[in-house]
Amino acid sequence: TLIAASAPGYPAARMVIAIDGPAGAGKSTVARGVADALGFTYLDSGAMYRCVALAALRAGVDLADADTVGRIADRVEIELDGGTALLEGEDVSETIRAPEVDAAASRVSVHPAVREAMVARQRALIERDGYVAEGRDIGTVVSTDAPLKIFLTASPEERARRRAAQTGEPLADVT
Ligand code: C5P
Repeated sequence: TLIAASAPGYPAARMVIAIDGPAGAGKSTVARGVADALGFTYLDSGAMYRCVALAALRAGVDLADADTVGRIADRVEIELDGGTALLEGEDVSETIRAPEVDAAASRVSVHPAVREAMVARQRALIERDGYVAEGRDIGTVVSTDAPLKIFLTASPEERARRRAAQTGEPLADVT
């Protein structure tokens, strides 16, 4: 609250704290903790890409097909509430953490149409509330005027260790 109150031009209602950084740096843990401490809403942008990936996998489409995956990203209903992710109303919070969804999320997120759709949704969300938003492009693309931007990183070994713990893959397979 102190940070919100001291950011000129940023009423607490739309204060954004952006936490960017590579996979495995600990963004989620930090973002959740900061959101809890400040009474802000936590935005897990990766969960949105994971939802698009799951929707594309379920639709059986070619993940390399930018137009088709882009249309899915435009239309699919995604709702995030704290740690819960709803895809078309179904709780997919655990399903989107599966290794195949993880891999599919990386593939769908390269399409500009998918990124545009997600960025637009993320901007619409953070307009409405005080947010701690995390992802690799929050401070650089989604909310370039966020009054507080944090770039979080960690050593390659620590990132690989976290990534393996998150996906359940053997450490040696995480690159
Ligand atoms: O952060 P998380 O691992 O949940 O993100 C899943 C995937 O979604 C990432 O590997 C990345 O490909 C993509 N992503 C992205 N931009 C973001 C967040 C996630 O491209 N802001």
